[in-house]
Order: sequence, then C-alpha cells, then structure tokens
Amino acid sequence: MTDIVALTAAQAAEAVASGELDRAELFETYRGRAAADELNAFLWVADAAPSRNGAGGPGPLGGVPLGVKDLFCTEGVPSQAGSKILQGYRPPYTATVVRKLEEAGSPLLGKTNQDEFAMGSSNENSAYGPVLNPWDRSRVPGGSSGGSAAAVAAGTAPWALGTDTGGSIRQPAALCGIVGLKPTYGSCSRFGMIAFASSLDQAGPLTRDVTDAALLFRHMVGRDERDATSIEFPEEVRLPSAQRLDGVRLGVPDDLGGEGVEPGVMARFEATLQIARDLGASIERVALPHADYGLSAYYVLAPAEASSNLARFDGVRYGLRRDANDLLTMYTQTRHDGFGAEVKRRILIGTYALSSGYYDAYYGRAQRVRTKIADDFNAAFERVDLIVTPTSPAVAFELGSKTADPLAMYLNDYFTVPFSLAGIPGISIPCGLSDGLPVGFQLAGPAFSENRVLDAAYALEQAIGFDNSAARA
Ligand code: GLN
Repeated sequence: MTDIVALTAAQAAEAVASGELDRAELFETYRGRAAADELNAFLWVADAAPSRNGAGGPGPLGGVPLGVKDLFCTEGVPSQAGSKILQGYRPPYTATVVRKLEEAGSPLLGKTNQDEFAMGSSNENSAYGPVLNPWDRSRVPGGSSGGSAAAVAAGTAPWALGTDTGGSIRQPAALCGIVGLKPTYGSCSRFGMIAFASSLDQAGPLTRDVTDAALLFRHMVGRDERDATSIEFPEEVRLPSAQRLDGVRLGVPDDLGGEGVEPGVMARFEATLQIARDLGASIERVALPHADYGLSAYYVLAPAEASSNLARFDGVRYGLRRDANDLLTMYTQTRHDGFGAEVKRRILIGTYALSSGYYDAYYGRAQRVRTKIADDFNAAFERVDLIVTPTSPAVAFELGSKTADPLAMYLNDYFTVPFSLAGIPGISIPCGLSDGLPVGFQLAGPAFSENRVLDAAYALEQAIGFDNSAARA
C-alpha cells in the first residue's frame, strides 16, 4: 500500500488519476489526521468529503483535499478570520478561489487557524489560541497563515490556502520549512476573503514543494467579475521543469542589509546563492534605495485600510453582539469585547493616520513612499530577472518571546513587505536548517512573472534537496 502522507499533492492527484489511489481513502486519511491535529492548526474539520465533489471525475486536482485559512468565506462553514467578533459566523457563500479549487477537484478539508484578521507574524494573535510549530512545539509557526503552514508541514493537510498582505504566506512557509507563493496582486480574486488591507491582500498556496504550488496556483488565477481589482493572468501557469539557471540574473538588494539577520539565516542564504551560481545563475547587487522604508509605509497603509475595512464589524450584521440599551453602547461594547489587542492597535493607528489634519503627513506620504518602492523594483528589473533575499530575518522563535514588543514582531516582515507594496510575486522555498530549524529563501520577480519565479524556485529546490519529512514524523 502506498504511504499516502508521503506523497506530495501532485503525486497524490496522479495516483488518483491512474486508479492507484482511491480519492475517498485519500480524503479520509487527511480528515482523520486533521481531526487528530495537536498543533491547534485547525479551527474546523470536515465530517466527510463534500457531496459536490462526489459528482463527476476527480478533476485535475484529483480530489486532493485542501486546508483553507479561516478568513476565506466558505458557505455554511465557520469563517471567523481568527476573531472572536466572528465566532460561529457561517457565510452564505464561498470565496471565489475556494470555489474554483473545489470545482477543479480539491475539496475543503478544514479551516485553518490564523492571526486575527491576518494581523501578525506568529499566529499568537488568534482568538482561538496559538498554533505550534511542528519542528519544535515550543516555537511559533509564523503568521498570519500559521495554521495553513503548520498543517502542511505536519502532513495534516496535503496543501493549503493562505493570504499574504505583507508576508503572511512567505514568512510562515519559511518558519515551517515549506513552500509559500504570494502571487501578483490582482491575479487571484479577493471575493469572499475577509478583508484586512484591500490594496495588498492576495490569496496564495502553501505547499510541500514548488510543483504543488504551481499546480494549485494554476487553478486559482483569473479575472472575477466580483473583484474589480482582479485581472486575467496573461499566460498559462505551467508546472515548473527547469533544471538549470543558465543566463538567469539574480539581484541581491544592497539596501536590505544584513543588520538584524541571524547569522545562521545569512549562512544558509549565502550557501543558496552559491548553489544558484553552480546552476549557472549570475548574482548581481541591485539598488532598492527606498525598500528600507517599506515597513514604515506598510504600518501606516495597512492599518489605515484595516480601520476602514473593520468598521463593518459593529454587532449589527455579523457574529458577536453585546446587547445594550442604546445603539452606541452596543457598537462600542461589541467591538471592545470582540476585537483583540493587536486589531485594536491597528484600528487606532489607522484611524489616526486617516484623520483630517494628519492624512497628508501620514497616509499621503506613505503612499508616495509606496510608489517610490515600486519604481525601485521597476528599475532593478531592467538589470536583473529576479530579486532574492532571505524570507525572514529569523528562524521560528519561542512562543511568547515577541508578544510584548510589537516593533520586534513587525520586523519579521522586513524582507517580505517591500514586494507586497509593489504588488509583485514572491515565493519562499526552504533552503536548509539553522540550529535544526528551517530557513526560507525568497525569490521575487516582476508582475505576472510567476512562471519564471516558479521555474527558478524549482531548479533551486532540486539542487538544495531539502527534506521536510521530519516535521511530519
Ligand atoms: N505580519 C504582517 C502584519 O502583521 C503581515 C500580515 C499579512 O501578510 N497578513 O501585518
């Protein structure tokens, strides 16, 4: 009998297509594993494969079940965005990307834990408790898609969906030793994703390897008339096959310096650059003079958008309501009890930044910085094909070690945020261990260059030969 959990999602889909593997057995294997999860990675697990998956053939995704971050609306299934204010909320519709994946043959396995409204880098901001890292249960899995990352690494989901606003797919992928792709802004519909910062939020895959990421992404893309910022992907998403990197120019940003990066992370990054050279790539230094301001701009813009998006949680329409004698008290008491500390902090920062008198000084200026960062990338991509950095300055850290210091927590996104502000795609692949914990290597390219990014990541992945099976043991 095949060891089902040892198969990647693409291999499992192939085994179903060839008749070697029964898709009901595949679903039940993962359903059982997800239900027995000890990492708090799941907030809800399916009782059985949804019946709509029963009709027709297995589809191109072979019936391989999908872990879905809690903030994706799924019809009739709890969709709480990791927040108490949405406790028990069951939406009447399903997010477009989830529906597309179901139609392609990847049924919903469960909803995964996350930082509340995707605000966080450690999954400790969930109203439903932290997620544990399968490599070391005293450490965080990263965030905000920490449940999806931990589930894939632990083999309780074959693959999963996350969202990335400033790093929330790439950083947890790095900390859990798996692959995470943040697509070009607009390539996947945001319809049905509970919004954090709408000009940055993107759905993307968290998978065991690069091929699985390409396969899942292929069935997510496309214009959706229900998301006016979505756009048709300009080419077919291909499964990667590159073995070499001959002629590929990789840019290492001068301005995203090594300061604050753990030596073990830097060592793995340098070693991966050498592997890239051995595969035929050339490494060049590139200037991104404004990238260093990425975090400052992000932590004005994202809270500003969040303060507006989260105004809808008022106790009238969804989830929690605290009864009171007058409307204003009902609003304030509901929001007081329903939102966690980090969400309240962001709402306050965002409301302040948008208030008249401060708007130009904060929001307006942050938007101008964002434009300069995007211009930097455009100039850099005249000289190089892809830009590479460590994904995260640190490996998985101890639970509780950064919760008292929001600025230390925000620094986790130092390398991921600039790419998000520019709207361009980035992938994190595991590139080795530091002190026994996984290190992520980030590759990013111009808008809609996912095929190139995936190909380069694939060639590197083959050469690195990272073994992530330890986390599934
Ligand atoms: N950690 C960042 C934040 O807290 C990014 C989160 C995300 O990408 N959703 O905002």
